[in-house]
Amino acid sequence: MEALDLLRENLGKVRAKMEDACRRAGRSEDSVALLVVTKSVTPEAMRLLWRLGVTQIGENRVQEALRKAEKLGDCGFGWHMVGHLQRNKVKAALGLFELIHSVDSARLADEIQNQAARRSRIARVLVEINVSGDEAKFGMAREGARGLVEHISSLGMLSLEGLMTMAPLVEDAEETRRHFAALRELRDELNAGATLRGPLNLLSMGMTQDFEVAIEEGADMVRVGTAVFEGLPEELRLP
Ligand SMILES: *Cc1c(COP(=O)(O)O)cnc(C)c1O
Repeated sequence: MEALDLLRENLGKVRAKMEDACRRAGRSEDSVALLVVTKSVTPEAMRLLWRLGVTQIGENRVQEALRKAEKLGDCGFGWHMVGHLQRNKVKAALGLFELIHSVDSARLADEIQNQAARRSRIARVLVEINVSGDEAKFGMAREGARGLVEHISSLGMLSLEGLMTMAPLVEDAEETRRHFAALRELRDELNAGATLRGPLNLLSMGMTQDFEVAIEEGADMVRVGTAVFEGLPEELRLP
């Protein structure tokens, strides 16, 4: 099968599953956005996605994303940073990404504030929460969430739009449900109890293994890579 047809078919399957999950949860079918995470594929594969109508893509490394963006200048993608962000990469990241999903410390937020002020451009961010408490994972612990969101909310150049999480890798996606529910509950608690400039709206949660469960638990944006690129020829994949 041609790569373009393969991607069309895979995207169709992912979107159908998203719609089914919306129906099961009594949500409207267009209430969840699909972010295609392209870290494992070449710019050529990304160009095919653009032809298929994909507009929002996620990358997890700043330099790699910049290299890709240079080759894809004619595509109008909205770029999202979903990986861990180092402070020394903030300046470069703000030149490309329209939403940073992975803010997990006050120091990182402060650097984004500094760099956004230099550019005179508001930076849109999500706070990454480590809902499972797994020490090997990035993200702010649940207990620290309130302090961090209140701090970010006091930074004038940051627009804090919601929360992001990664559930642990498990055999059975059902096991991720409580983590996604915990993120939704935390968002609601913060909206009710924290001192914020505006409400936290967006929940970025769910990947290939668990996006359907995440949608049932309230995800507004799912981040999917593997399911979209299944079967893609080697030459369109990155090593
Ligand atoms: C790679 C990645 C994804 C996509 O994961 P898949 O399992 O390939 O769907 C989502 N979110 C983040 C933060 C990632 O790094």
